[in-house]
Amino acid sequence: MDTEEMASQKRWVYPDTPLFRQYQGLREKAGEALLFFRLGDFYELFGDQAVEVSRVLGLTLTSRDRNKSNPLPMCGIPARSLELYLPRLVSLGYRIAISEQTQPDLESDGMFAREIVRIVTRSTLIEDPSLEGGQTKNGVCIVRMDESVAISSLDLSSGHLAVFEPQNKGDLDAILDWMASKSPVEILIADNELSVALSGIDHQRMSPSEIPLTELLDVLPQGFEFPVLSPASERALSTLISYVASLKAGIIHHLTGVTVEKTVGTLVIDRASIRHLDLVPDQEDRKKNGSLLEVLDQSRSSLGSRMLRRWVLAPLSDRETILLRQWIVKRMDENPRWADRIGDILGSTGDIERILGRIGMKGRLPRDLGGIRDGIQGAIELAKMPEWTELLPDHKRDASIEILSAMVLRLSGALVDDPPVSCGESPVIRDGFDAELDGYRHFEREGDQDLLKIEERERRSTGIDTLRIRYNQVAGYYIEVTKGQVSKVPSHYFRKQTLTGVERYTLPELMDFEQRIAESRSRAQQREFALLDELTTLVLSLSAQIQRMAEFLGTVDALLSFARVGKKRQYVLPSFSMDGAMSITNGRHPIVEARLMSGTFMPNDTNLGSGTFVLLTGPNMAGKSTYMRQLALIQIMAQMGAPVPADSAVLPIVDRILTRVGANDHILEGESTFMVEMKEVARVLRDATSKTLVILDEVGRGTATFDGMAIAWAVSEYIHDHIRSMTLFATHYHELHALTEKGQRFLNQSVAVRIEGGKIFFPHRISSGHSSKSYGIDVAKLAGVPEVVIERATRILEHWNRQKPFKAISDGLSQLPEKDSGALPLFNWKVRSDKPTQSS
Ligand code: ADP
Ligand code: MG
Repeated sequence: MDTEEMASQKRWVYPDTPLFRQYQGLREKAGEALLFFRLGDFYELFGDQAVEVSRVLGLTLTSRDRNKSNPLPMCGIPARSLELYLPRLVSLGYRIAISEQTQPDLESDGMFAREIVRIVTRSTLIEDPSLEGGQTKNGVCIVRMDESVAISSLDLSSGHLAVFEPQNKGDLDAILDWMASKSPVEILIADNELSVALSGIDHQRMSPSEIPLTELLDVLPQGFEFPVLSPASERALSTLISYVASLKAGIIHHLTGVTVEKTVGTLVIDRASIRHLDLVPDQEDRKKNGSLLEVLDQSRSSLGSRMLRRWVLAPLSDRETILLRQWIVKRMDENPRWADRIGDILGSTGDIERILGRIGMKGRLPRDLGGIRDGIQGAIELAKMPEWTELLPDHKRDASIEILSAMVLRLSGALVDDPPVSCGESPVIRDGFDAELDGYRHFEREGDQDLLKIEERERRSTGIDTLRIRYNQVAGYYIEVTKGQVSKVPSHYFRKQTLTGVERYTLPELMDFEQRIAESRSRAQQREFALLDELTTLVLSLSAQIQRMAEFLGTVDALLSFARVGKKRQYVLPSFSMDGAMSITNGRHPIVEARLMSGTFMPNDTNLGSGTFVLLTGPNMAGKSTYMRQLALIQIMAQMGAPVPADSAVLPIVDRILTRVGANDHILEGESTFMVEMKEVARVLRDATSKTLVILDEVGRGTATFDGMAIAWAVSEYIHDHIRSMTLFATHYHELHALTEKGQRFLNQSVAVRIEGGKIFFPHRISSGHSSKSYGIDVAKLAGVPEVVIERATRILEHWNRQKPFKAISDGLSQLPEKDSGALPLFNWKVRSDKPTQSS
């Protein structure tokens, strides 16, 4: 029997004490979740949960009463180290119920009241060091109402709440794309049918909330701004908020409003493209190296990193806004001293959005209040720079600046320069801020003086020159006398403790003193709590303004990042064409270039008129996929307002980027490769417009050659003739080059390779015209495939080339080849070798 079974089967006997009655009550409330039971500076787990957690975290298992026959196992986690342990438990799929002491005073049964203050899941985990970077922890919720489907998302650590409903009612593809752009860590589906349809996606099924958003008063703070929403969107939001509310007691103060996201004004990138173009680091596949976000992220703060992540996944399609971003980037570039000053401020303001989130979730946090004070102070300095009046004339910062300045003033007056992480460690409130607190503190300090006086007096009256008055938490105040001097101790001293080398005594006067000091200490502490709560309330009441400031900081940081990366990597700011044409000189693939040794990436030029359909041929490894992705990435960067990897670029503004990249298993969504391939193709044909950039990489590969080629041919024709999207189609079906005879916007391009001295060279140069040779057999030869097989392959290929079945298609549909001509010797040969005959 392994420990796991032991943990679940063994019934531990809990001592019949008030503490354990309280513990068991909370365990019941926690349900399946692990109960982190707060005891002093630790969270304790007991019984089965202690056994389990000590095993998975590798912690020491102790017990409360070793001498009993069946001691209750326990396992402690230091309250300060939640950040170390929670992420590991959560990623293993556990939920953790955090219980805290909720009253400062003992109750009648000698116990502190404790309650579960929140339950930590994947999306409600805020103690995670990885959040320091550009990471987000979105929980999303999909609901359906009649025909409509809507989705909401919440990043609790920053308070970003958003909702989306596709323009075409019930368009599940659009929902899934939007969801992918949020990289959710927790997915809720509040509908049976959808839950079944999306069974390949790891999600939690739940029932939709029937409480209207406006009635979620116990959870939403007073100033929450309710947008006007459709019923489905409203339900998506209220269901998600109700879920989060079920995990946290009390109001979620930093939820100040909802962003209603639309596809209008943004460049829509489907989920396949997010993956194929490596836009953001792959959370599952850590082996992959490099993403567009990592290349672009030179930001000084996590606020900037997160803003960049949002921009990468949702670039703009509105020319004015793109040009505004470009304009600021240009200014930063031209004015390095200004840019440096901005960078310095951003480097020291901290992540005020997350700090606010922590305060909103956990309340009284002295260090975080200090963080808000310093961060907002920096933000105000930045916002007041005169340059913005020209660059962002109608920005809404001004109103907030005044209120926030007042808040900073208040915080600066109240808090010590470096507040401790939690209360009670060291003073949090400055001397001179509050008369009442000063009074208690004064008594404490005066007390120290009194103590010195008593010490001096006793030393003189007893003649013991080593006599000391000391204090520790366990024993309180005592007079300490070394063993050698004990004979001089007067008879009215009470002995308190005997240690090796010293004796400890006390006096009624000292006991009285101790009590008074303890009292004023506790009063001082209570007063500090009250003042801190007041400051916390003040900060939370300005959540919306603080979040707006964070938005401003993030935006400036992201733009500064553009300026820095542009300079570092020699990018240019593109201009935009009116006629939908694309023209790039020396374009590069940003991620591949960053990965290669400098100077080894081969740049390529691009010149495509609106609606051009490029048929890109060339052998494997020639660089077809890289080239096509390069164009898509340059387009995305441009529409983010970023500089692009090229010497010059004039680009269209596109509404969508749709990519289809060959043979890729969606094991997650539980579909076969070819089905997925065709679904994505269907989607391209349905959603693409004349303003869309379409990338097709080896479409048709997932099925038999002629099937695939026929589909590829028909798809190309359809896009060229009817949709007119700018399209790049990399294909190993050379025969498709004949399409150029059918339509004038078809363009043949190819990437050649050279064979010299028994080696293949890949110059990665795109040139016009089609490649007539695939080099597959050459590669096979170089790789050491036996000569006899190479010869046979060459003969089969010659035979095939003589047949030229696809010449027929390009000549006109009326002369399609006979179905039988698909039975090439290659396939006969294969079939025969696969199926040995029975008679043999
Ligand atoms: P294909 O799609 O034609 O099979 P890929 O685009 O996958 O080829 O490119 C193969 C490899 O060649 C890539 O891994 C990449 O590192 C390298 N490569 C492609 N294009 C270039 C280039 N322009 N300069 C340098 N290396 C390149
Ligand atoms: Mg390829």
